[in-house]
Amino acid sequence: MNPVRPFSSCAAVFFLVVTGLSSPVSADEIRFRIKTSPRDSVEVTGLDTAGVPYICLNELADVLRFPSAVNDTVKKFEFRISTRRIKFSRNNPFLVVTDVPTNASSVYQLPQPVLQRDRKYYAPLFPFVSFFDRMWAGGVSLDSLSLTMSLGSFDDAPEFDITGVSIERKSNGYLIIIHALRKFGEVEAWLKPDGWLFVTIANAKADTFALSRTRLFGAIRNLLTFQSPTSVQLTFKVAPDVAQAEVINEPESHDLLIALRTLSPPEKEAIEKKRQQSIQENLEKERNRWKLDVIVIDAGHGGKDPGALGVAKTKEKDITLGVALKLGKFLEKNLKGVKVVYTRKTDAFIELYRRTQIANEAGGKLFVSIHCNSLERKPSRARGFEIYLLRPGKTEEAIEIAERENSVIQLEEGYEQRYQKLTEENFILVTMAQSAYVKYSEHFAEIAAEAMEKNSTLKNSGVKQAGFYVLVGASMPNVLVETGYLSNRTEEKFLKSSAGQTKIAEALYNGIKQYKEIYEKALSEGSRQ
Ligand SMILES: [Zn+2]
Repeated sequence: MNPVRPFSSCAAVFFLVVTGLSSPVSADEIRFRIKTSPRDSVEVTGLDTAGVPYICLNELADVLRFPSAVNDTVKKFEFRISTRRIKFSRNNPFLVVTDVPTNASSVYQLPQPVLQRDRKYYAPLFPFVSFFDRMWAGGVSLDSLSLTMSLGSFDDAPEFDITGVSIERKSNGYLIIIHALRKFGEVEAWLKPDGWLFVTIANAKADTFALSRTRLFGAIRNLLTFQSPTSVQLTFKVAPDVAQAEVINEPESHDLLIALRTLSPPEKEAIEKKRQQSIQENLEKERNRWKLDVIVIDAGHGGKDPGALGVAKTKEKDITLGVALKLGKFLEKNLKGVKVVYTRKTDAFIELYRRTQIANEAGGKLFVSIHCNSLERKPSRARGFEIYLLRPGKTEEAIEIAERENSVIQLEEGYEQRYQKLTEENFILVTMAQSAYVKYSEHFAEIAAEAMEKNSTLKNSGVKQAGFYVLVGASMPNVLVETGYLSNRTEEKFLKSSAGQTKIAEALYNGIKQYKEIYEKALSEGSRQ
């Protein structure tokens, strides 16, 4: 159902005016009353064109004794109010207002164009009145029912002593001229480093309308005028190359002069050089911030949580710690400038959420969680290593592995509150939080899988994805490595042996090293652009 739309008050007024005064034939003559004081009034004519009332500008100028002129050649009409000249053009909605002393012009747009009949010019009444109200210092009001326009007295109007601003270009900058009708004392101009120039003139009254029409150009980009009961503040926004603002004392004139000095080419060059330098410094800082200088190794399980058990009862937690410590040694020995952080170095129980917390607190740039795989059925033939990314599990097998690894949270107190179920919705949130690192996690997983395949006898079961709690909080690229199957007799033996753990650690080390080289090369190339 359509809602009933009320007539707007404006439309209602319009309707009354039209029917009350003329039949809707095009261009009927209508009459307006102009009250110039509570007692005195005069009449001017107008036109009603298809319901739009127009006022005759020539007659208005005559009855108000404005100096006026018609230019028949270019079809223009103009009159003057106080120091302003207002120009109307036939069939044109734009009025040009020129401040005569400064010769600064501004344009005002009416919703309908100015009409011309014979030598008479007409403006649409309602928009013209609001324009006229801004020009006539005493103010103008309109009673649209009786078509009576009342003019406030010029005597009640505030007297302006700041009448306008003009700007001149000089050889070494600009000159701002604040036009004043009387002499002002000390004026302060304050140029802030962020490009705002404040000029405060005490005991002044500004013609804010004229000021709002200031023609700005060059380094002067904006002008805001603030009139308080006791002062006027002019705020200019100037270009960054304005170096100095200085008030100039001109005893001959009432005007206030402010000279803006712009930077010379050598000065500009020096500043540009400094700017470039600071960009370089920031880039260097940024590059250092992203440098792969802290690697976090997370040995899975520990303490009261043994992890998976092998065919010969080998505990996952012992193998993960062995591999983690060996991997750390490789990194510390061979990658200079890299700090290795362990989530545990002993047989301790560390809660899952704490592991990435440790990594984040240390400013880690890569998080590698080390685990061993196992199947329910022991012994079984499944073998090989897998590298996991934090994503919704795709295969049943991946989901099972994640469930097994995640089940250790039940050993933590109050785990229900701490870990949110990794529903699809929660995954979206987690992925968003890690979106900056996903690409790097993937890249590292690929490189590490390749390196492990090349450097060990383990079968590469590829890069996979599943929802591991231990990776959720990481604010850095992260992967989980299932080094091999404890449910496979041969692999259990290999994983348990010091030689086997060294092999895995070395293989992982090679992956990290390779990744670091590629990553940092890309980083330095990126930052040079
Ligand atoms: Zn595990």
